[in-house]
Amino acid sequence: MVSRVIPVDPFDLVIFGGTGDLARRKILPALYRRFCAGQIEADVQITGAARREMDADGYRAFVAEAIASAEMAEGRRPDTASQAEFLKMLDYVTIDALGEAGWDRLSAGTRNERIRAYYFSVAPRFFGPLAERLHLYGLADASARIVVEKPFGRDLASARDLNRVLAGYFNECQIYRIDHYLGKETVQNLMAIRFGNMLFEPLWNSQYVDHIQITVAEEHGVGGRGDYYDRAGAMRDMMQNHLMQLLCLIAMEPPAKFDPDAVRDEKLKVIRALDPLGAGDVVRGQYRAAEGRPGYHEEVENPDSTTESFVALKARISNWRWAGTPFYLRTGKRLRERASEIAVVFKDAPHSIFGDDAGRHRNILTIKLQPNEGIELGVTIKEPGPGGMRLIDVPLDMTFAEALGPQDADFPDAYERLIMDVIRGNQTLFMRGDEVEAAWAWTDAAIRGWEERGEPPLTYETGSSGPQEALTLMLRDGRRWREIKA
Ligand code: NAD
Repeated sequence: MVSRVIPVDPFDLVIFGGTGDLARRKILPALYRRFCAGQIEADVQITGAARREMDADGYRAFVAEAIASAEMAEGRRPDTASQAEFLKMLDYVTIDALGEAGWDRLSAGTRNERIRAYYFSVAPRFFGPLAERLHLYGLADASARIVVEKPFGRDLASARDLNRVLAGYFNECQIYRIDHYLGKETVQNLMAIRFGNMLFEPLWNSQYVDHIQITVAEEHGVGGRGDYYDRAGAMRDMMQNHLMQLLCLIAMEPPAKFDPDAVRDEKLKVIRALDPLGAGDVVRGQYRAAEGRPGYHEEVENPDSTTESFVALKARISNWRWAGTPFYLRTGKRLRERASEIAVVFKDAPHSIFGDDAGRHRNILTIKLQPNEGIELGVTIKEPGPGGMRLIDVPLDMTFAEALGPQDADFPDAYERLIMDVIRGNQTLFMRGDEVEAAWAWTDAAIRGWEERGEPPLTYETGSSGPQEALTLMLRDGRRWREIKA
């Protein structure tokens, strides 16, 4: 089976921060791959706009290197002919987000009749000034849309301010707040599995689901991002956006249709139904130095830092569907492995006809997001052989590679899908302003709680599953975290 690629309408894209790390590693390689796939046609113009002095040829050389290293990381070589064609689409403008330099040139090269996307791949303090200058230079018309990277604020007040500033120049339907987790193939498959099949939805509630676990574990530490990270921490950097978005997709009611506002309305209702987190519902941690690797304090060069590099929490959703089913969420750095998954753990069968020796068996639906995407359903079967009735759990593998063939199982990167959605004008996988604010309101209250209690984070071993207290968070409910395993 070969998936159909439908070219998007002609468009022009300006990447503010076009020489930055995100543009180099993700945005530009994603555009190249969509071009190779035939989704972007050759009359598209992609303009890098950043502070660095450079001409268009210099930018093409920069982008060629970016594509080569991104393709190499995937075990591929760039196709020389396609790459040469792609590079012809590129231009570069030296620009100052806070001043007037470069804006006349950008404005002069603008094709107003085109769909135009402006990607804000710059530090958040530039988001407002960029929106304002796009307006001042007549570029914020109805054909324009903006893509805003994370972090979207650092609390409710700053997110509100930013929403207000952006709303001064753009309508909500022109603002694409990106969360790349939502662009993952498997995350969308989660919606297809839930709402496209009769099988799961009748069981998708507190009557049948014991609990849900969401884990986003990273193996590396804060690395070169220490300065930013120490002002944010795991709650702001990961929980408020990525994990809460996954929670919403798992927990939301079926929208009436797969339409941006219908989906986002349902996600918002989930956030609004979350109970406030109590002191005993949150565990924070900070990794210690180990095996010659620096600890958190050394990495962020702040010996007094009380910022968390790990957070685990128990969330409750007070609505008819989920009352009584807890959601356990955890994320952290320097953990055992880089592994992200959602596990829907179903309740025990009400009565075991096979006796105690058969053991306790549970169905678990696992949605794996990283490093390999896929969905697995654990089912209980009889252990093969002539012995007695002994039960084992085996995975019913739904990675689809065999059914779809390797070509279709080679999913596009999240950025490829999301950038194409921006051009198609489809906001389903982007966060709406009110959703972001509601998520901040919930996490702000928890952050205020630990600040008021003066609770420092607990320490944990590099390569572990986080602080012991995070394990206790589930053990005291008679439950266990799943092993962090790639
Ligand atoms: P970076 O520091 O590598 O790049 C910053 C870019 O901004 C450069 O191109 C620089 O020239 C440009 N810039 C700086 N000052 C400017 C000015 N006054 N006028 C115009 N351009 C200016 O940053 P990055 O890692 O690419 O991150 C960009 C954004 O994406 C940030 O908001 C970050 O939080 C977000 N983000 C990054 C990643 C990542 O993996 N790098 C992941 C998720 C989100």
